[in-house]
Formats: sequence, structure tokens, C-alpha cells
Amino acid sequence: EVVLEARGLKKSYRMGKVTVEALRGVDLAIRRGEFVSIIGPSGSGKSTLLNLIGCLDQPTAGQAIIDGQDVSRMKDPALTAVRCRKIGYVFQKFYLLPFLTTLENVELQARLAGVKDSRARSVEALKLVGLEARMNHRPVEMSGGEQQRVAIARALVKGPALLLADEPTGNLDTKTGDLIMDVFKRLNKQGLTIVMVTHNPELAARTGRVIKVRDGLIEEA
Ligand code: ADP
Ligand code: ADP
Repeated sequence: EVVLEARGLKKSYRMGKVTVEALRGVDLAIRRGEFVSIIGPSGSGKSTLLNLIGCLDQPTAGQAIIDGQDVSRMKDPALTAVRCRKIGYVFQKFYLLPFLTTLENVELQARLAGVKDSRARSVEALKLVGLEARMNHRPVEMSGGEQQRVAIARALVKGPALLLADEPTGNLDTKTGDLIMDVFKRLNKQGLTIVMVTHNPELAARTGRVIKVRDGLIEEA
């Protein structure tokens, strides 16, 4: 079952008189349960692709279909609903709210996504990333790896069709990055579909499929 499909996806950015073609026609299909990495040199279009797939930006041409819904021409509030309910986001930065505890950070997301039993679901998500002992800590009291695990729990709690991660280990040392990869591997074994952008080929090699982007096009899929 295909959970994510891109057809002829293009994106240009206009800067004054100059137009940058960041994506020049990308076709892609990702099945439920896959763990896919997107690699390529800096500026090749990886983040642009992830932003289009993640409904954070809209394509210049082409289609993106998520869980059967064509989101490429969708407008708010429908688009926000897809972002909120279908997709979990993990970034290089953790974007945790500093005055909230671990549990509160996750529970706020659960409530925004309309999750029932938001407290219980948040505790479950935190157990999945091994943070049950850190529930009442604030971000400043935790390591980078722990903060990223909170961010992963926050993405998981809504039961997304797809988890998107953009350089999720970019702010972490190698050992901590490996631990985050272990978390992703475990979640994927439990059925979670994950798409991860990285420029690190060693991390990419640990995923089920590597997609190479070059000059706005996919080289290998
Ligand atoms: P990557 O994630 O592989 O580093 P990006 O998707 O960030 O690549 O960028 C692809 C190309 O699009 C680059 O040439 C970049 O400079 C350009 N680009 C990305 N975002 C913008 C933007 N908001 N405005 C203008 N150009 C952009
Ligand atoms: P980088 O390109 O340095 O890896 P990030 O991966 O941290 O940056 O963020 C990618 C983009 O997504 C940024 O433009 C950021 O503003 C945006 N972003 C970060 N967090 C969220 C969020 N929770 N919802 C929507 N957009 C976000």
C-alpha cells in the first residue's frame, strides 16, 4: 500500500529576476512500513522535497499524494488538518517549548491533533522512546539526545501515517545520533513509515532504501 506518492514534483524559487529550480520533476512512491532515507549534496533539493511531501510548502507543478489525498493544491484549513493529523515532523532543532515539561510538550501536540486520552497516549509515546523517567523534566534539564527523543514522541503521539525527519541527528554527536537511529529502527519495526533526509551516507545505509537526489532530480530510487 502506497502511503506517499510524488508525481512530476517541481519547485522553483524566484529571487528577484533569478529563478532557482530546486526540484525539476520528481517521481516517488513510498509504501507503508518503509524506512527511506533521502541523501544528496548540499543544495540538491532534499529539504525542498521533504517540505513538499510534508505540506510545509506547495509545489510549482506536479502532485503530492499522502494517504490517498492529493495535497498539492489543497488550501487551509484542509492542509493544516493533514499536517496536524497525518504527518509527524522531526527536525535538526528540537523546537520544544522551554516552559513546558516533557509530558506537557507531547500532550500539547496530542491535544492539537485531537487525540483522545491525550495524557495516556503521551505517556505511551514517551515510553516508546525510553523517556518515562524524564516525564516531568524541562528541556533545559535534558541532553540533546533526550530532547530529540521528546520531539520524536511528540511526532508519534498523533499516530501519523508518516514520520518525516530532516537531518534529525544534525545537532547531535555521533554516539547520540546512533542512539536516535536505534529509536527510528525500533519504531519502524513496529510499523511506522519513516522518511529521513540526511547528508550522512552511513546513517542512510542503515535505512531500508536510499534515494539519491542530485540537482533537483532523483538519481536512484
Ligand atoms: P538541500 O536540502 O539538499 O540542501 P534545498 O532543498 O535546501 O537543498 O535547496 C535546493 C536549492 O533551492 C538550493 O539551490 C537552494 O539555494 C534553493 N532554495 C531553497 N530554499 C529556498 C528559498 N526559500 N528561496 C530561494 N532559494 C531556495
Ligand atoms: P535545517 O534546514 O537547518 O535542518 P530544520 O530542519 O530545523 O532546519 O527546519 C526546517 C524548516 O522547517 C525550517 O524552515 C523551520 O522553520 C521549519 N519548521 C521547524 N519546525 C517546524 C514545525 N514544528 N512545523 C512547521 N515547520 C517547522
